[in-house]
Amino acid sequence: MAGLIPQDFIDDLIARADIVEVVGRRTQLKKAGREFKACCPFHDEKTPSFTVSPGKGFYHCFGCGAHGTAIGFLMEFDHMSFVEAIESLAHSMGVEVPRDDSDQPARRYDELFSLMDAVARYWQSCLRESPAAVEYIKKRGIDGSTAKRYGIGYAPDGWSNLIDKFGGSAEATDRLLATGLIIQKDNGQHYDRFRDRLMFPIRDARGRTIGFGGRTMGDGEPKYLNSPETVLFHKGRELYGLYEARQALRNIERLVVVEGYMDAVALARHGIDFVVATLGTATTEEHLNRLFRITENAYFAFDGDRAGRKAAWRALENALPQIREGRQIRFVFLPDGQDPDSFVNERGADAFVKLMDSGLPLSEFLIQELSSQVDMETIDGRAKLAEMARPLVSKIPAGVYRELLIDSLATAVGLTALKLEKMMTSRPAASDRGLFAPAGKLRKRTRSAASGGPSVVRRALTLILNEPTAGRKLDTDLLAGVQRPGVDLLVSLIETVQSEPTITTAGLLERWRHDEQGRHLGKLAAADLPLDDEFDPAAELAECLQQLALAGRKERIEFLIEKQRVTGLSDDERSELAQRR
Ligand SMILES: [Zn+2]
Repeated sequence: MAGLIPQDFIDDLIARADIVEVVGRRTQLKKAGREFKACCPFHDEKTPSFTVSPGKGFYHCFGCGAHGTAIGFLMEFDHMSFVEAIESLAHSMGVEVPRDDSDQPARRYDELFSLMDAVARYWQSCLRESPAAVEYIKKRGIDGSTAKRYGIGYAPDGWSNLIDKFGGSAEATDRLLATGLIIQKDNGQHYDRFRDRLMFPIRDARGRTIGFGGRTMGDGEPKYLNSPETVLFHKGRELYGLYEARQALRNIERLVVVEGYMDAVALARHGIDFVVATLGTATTEEHLNRLFRITENAYFAFDGDRAGRKAAWRALENALPQIREGRQIRFVFLPDGQDPDSFVNERGADAFVKLMDSGLPLSEFLIQELSSQVDMETIDGRAKLAEMARPLVSKIPAGVYRELLIDSLATAVGLTALKLEKMMTSRPAASDRGLFAPAGKLRKRTRSAASGGPSVVRRALTLILNEPTAGRKLDTDLLAGVQRPGVDLLVSLIETVQSEPTITTAGLLERWRHDEQGRHLGKLAAADLPLDDEFDPAAELAECLQQLALAGRKERIEFLIEKQRVTGLSDDERSELAQRR
């Protein structure tokens, strides 16, 4: 196995790579101010919302949210792995990729992936050897070729099947733990997580197994059990069955989203290959992001009961920011007491497709749900509907779709569209304001945000990502003991720019690529800093740190005072409190 590519080589490659050239060789770019624009290569669009910033070494699409560095672009556009993208980029720049053979994270990832793969194959062989499991899937209407396509297996009963087979050394046991396949007891001993269950491997876009879903075959609880969140598996991001759908279909014209893997497999068994499932979580914005990068037509199929309507509503709320012209979102409700699995087995594929086609368009579902919560016969009721619709409508990007929805709402409440729109826009929600108010106003706003809340952390992260040099002279000791989401990340970013003074925005993003938090950094890096000369990123960043330090200090004092009252303080704490006050 080839060794790991040293980090400083990646930093340097990214700093020297010309993102405009990398993207421009594959997509027609047009200069627009200090940036370049194009119609997005990752989603269908007619007006360009895809921007490449040579300064940041970074691309971003305001339409579908795609973003990344030159390496990220190669991975997405040319479907390369991380290492392949680095090799390709280095090759195009005429440099050799050095290898460092020490044992490092990338190798560990490879080992975890091969373990998952081996376990999936082991469970498939167990399925073939278990007459009860074979009988069960037959009874559920799953045939052999569908089972094979989805890699369905069976985890036999017993507490240590995997440990005995795959846990031969301390390192091997560690890997089983890291992938969530076994559980550690308080006394340090281990046992298998999945026992006597039908197993569904969850695969990533490249077909690698990253987690499992397990279903009981009897009355055992819980009925469905998934792998926990691990370094490989993030529930809120993965769509079960996407890899299989892509294998089966050349063009994915539409996708139906169901709630469970049994539903997805049942539909696929009946020839409805354009199906994916969320994994026991609500439909997240990230799911939708992925979905709309594949197709413009999404159908959400939910059970017809109350829980199903509630889940559908949550999907609607997350879908609003994703609405664009040309995108179709429909909500499909199964008849009471049925799910897609039972429905398609009972009534067949044609009936299911017919049900999909008669699904409610998003706008209709929205108005229907809101109307059911008010008395539409009264003026008060209709005014209340308008009020409830306001925050929802404001989430939709301005454009034809929003206008049309406002029209339909206006008809429903008996107002002119103009009047309704006025009502809706009269009090913009605070969150609509940009991260960076125009200079002058900013001062005032930062003072009022002296609580040092998450927005300050966010602003500080945005500043350092966009302008890494701004962090060179800061004292991270200021943040010691400040307990806030994102502060640890901020400190590591500052430390990185201090130890690597030449690192770029893109370099920072690549460093955090494999990190859970890296996914959020891309979004922040896409924000634009004000252009005017008065804007001083280093001073702004220093001020953010001061605010956080101040807020942290205040909280610490409050904590000590409270502790004094309840349990009393140690000597050290008492002198700390005296000193801090
Ligand atoms: Zn796009």
